[in-house]
Amino acid sequence: MVARIVADVYAECLADRSGEPADYIPELAAVQADSFGLCVATADGRVYGAGDVQAPFTIQSISKPFTYALALADRGPAAVAERIDVEPSGEAFNEISLDPVTARPRNPMINAGAISAAALIGGRDAAEKFERVRRCYSRFAGRELRVNEAVYASEARTGYRNRAIGYMLRSFGVIDSDPDEAVDRYFRQCSIDVTCHDLAVMAATLANNGVNPLTRERALSSTLTEQVLSVMTTCGMYDAAGEWVSTVGMPAKSGVGGGILAVLPGQIGIAVYSPRLDRHGNSVRGVAACRELSRRLELHFLHVT
Ligand code: GLN
Repeated sequence: MVARIVADVYAECLADRSGEPADYIPELAAVQADSFGLCVATADGRVYGAGDVQAPFTIQSISKPFTYALALADRGPAAVAERIDVEPSGEAFNEISLDPVTARPRNPMINAGAISAAALIGGRDAAEKFERVRRCYSRFAGRELRVNEAVYASEARTGYRNRAIGYMLRSFGVIDSDPDEAVDRYFRQCSIDVTCHDLAVMAATLANNGVNPLTRERALSSTLTEQVLSVMTTCGMYDAAGEWVSTVGMPAKSGVGGGILAVLPGQIGIAVYSPRLDRHGNSVRGVAACRELSRRLELHFLHVT
């Protein structure tokens, strides 16, 4: 039944060619704009896919919940909460902002909070800290993920706005280490290549309380998984988070590479890849496909049967 619904939703969304891929760096502008993959992985490890489920693309902002997860595991929730709030901002992902009262980034899903989370990763030096990030994502995906060096070089060459955010965070004491190092780690994490299949397994690992259902390896404790999913619910879709909760009703995260990851705790992980984006920076087909899957499979977390 799930296999048929996945195939139907894929076929239904395929015709929509609206939106444009991200074009702030040449590597993203050069992707195959009409690629489309849809993949569903259950919390007990069954995987259903349609379309380009093995095409690589950069994870971009979908990295944010996973680095936040590692920061929580490394520093503990209280220390992280001192630096990063969990309030939905209703702002664009790259807004240069801090909460005026607390002087903290509003949440870890916008760049200010994500760069702060990257600064909190443990390790002896920058190389070890990033390696720990890469290994953490790899445990969620159940395979070794790698950086797309061309995308990383472009992100690092053009990332003035993110550097500005890093320096702002340093000046307010949210980051008390080298801001360039934290921003560089953020560029690298955004440049990790994944496939739609990988993202579905990462989503299913969150759905399965932090245990990867394919490898059976624990990627995150169940308490921290709950925390990460909570923040994804309120803040994962940027300034479209409210509409997403009403129409899809699942914790989720999108990235400008064209990926969307959504989770129904205890049940299912969903991933979509389609690079054409709407004005919020969310994948057009990704949003449509998640809406349709949610409706047909009755995935909305407030749905009562
Ligand atoms: N690398 C991008 C940035 O920070 C990622 C943003 C995103 O996926 N929304 O600008």
